[in-house]
Amino acid sequence: MTATRRVLITGAGGFIGHHLAKSLVAQGHLVRGADLKPPEFEETAAQEFELADLRRADECARVTRDVDQVYNLAANMGGIGFIEAYKALIVHDNVLINMQMLEAARLAGVKRFLFTSSACVYPQRLQGNADVTPLREEDAYPADPEDGYGWEKLFTERQCRHYTEDYGLDTRVVRFHNIYGPLGTYDGGREKSPAAICRKVALAADGDEIEVWGDGNQTRSYCFIDDCVEGIDRLMRSDHRQPINLGTDRLISVNGLVDLVSGVAGKTLRRRHDLTKPQGVRGRNSDNSRLRSVLGWEPRVSLEEGMARTYRWIEDQLRAQGRVGARPAGTATA
Ligand code: NAD
Repeated sequence: MTATRRVLITGAGGFIGHHLAKSLVAQGHLVRGADLKPPEFEETAAQEFELADLRRADECARVTRDVDQVYNLAANMGGIGFIEAYKALIVHDNVLINMQMLEAARLAGVKRFLFTSSACVYPQRLQGNADVTPLREEDAYPADPEDGYGWEKLFTERQCRHYTEDYGLDTRVVRFHNIYGPLGTYDGGREKSPAAICRKVALAADGDEIEVWGDGNQTRSYCFIDDCVEGIDRLMRSDHRQPINLGTDRLISVNGLVDLVSGVAGKTLRRRHDLTKPQGVRGRNSDNSRLRSVLGWEPRVSLEEGMARTYRWIEDQLRAQGRVGARPAGTATA
């Protein structure tokens, strides 16, 4: 049993922040969520939820009052289509949020501050092959991250270190690798590849053709949301102050992911490759050596199980909107 903590989660109206709030409340902690908007698909579990625009310093100070820990997840972000199209907006908003949340935490005497960074901090030169060598934390330097979003993440990682060294603010930095699962955005332009693939497969009839961005041979590793939340919790309870990967090291191509989801759906689909669409780096995988040695743990949910749970949830959402047909009588819902 851990002691009750008073916690602020910024971005608690978003995908990971909402799941994290549920988990921390279930453990008995007192959670305040803050976001521009409430969670989209279900009520927040947080005991308090405050609408706030964290690009404003006064709003950051307001939501950071009387808490022991800050989990700073708020960010203007989305999938590759979004982060390639809105670099100035993303860097502007996220630098303001992150610099002002760090300062608010320092002024409020917060005991521990988590910054959620990304695999996008890794240099382009190490990600030119589909058969990529998994990325170790120290590979982030010499720096050449993803333009826009990746630079902002790397810059804020460094500012966390400066706040620790200069002001004694205890910080944690986690680099997520493609987190997916139910209750994530699956439509509208900000969705990531696992959710977009689930939506396209759900909307297709057996034998149809679906659009895939790029040639589909680009590779990634994917991490299910329950493992992500558990990893965050373990990291916040650890003494580890250096950046750490949180992902799986199971590499799969986008074509492979399409086939996996088609199998879950029981459909045979053809792929139409759109080479004009952004596809990001050629290959990216997580080296989990540090995760294993520091936390004595690594993600456990298989891609098959995680994608099946995600697909069923997205299919159910689309069915509730009348966008896919009724489920045949007697078939399972999970
Ligand atoms: P998300 O978009 O679902 O959640 C982010 C939340 O931040 C949203 O609810 C949004 O409304 C909120 N927000 C944006 N601007 C704000 C502002 N000005 N004031 C207050 N709130 C604001 O994203 P997510 O997938 O839950 O990601 C959470 C964090 O993890 C982000 O920092 C993201 O960069 C990082 N991350 C996520 C992934 C992933 O695979 N999902 C990968 C790497 C890093």
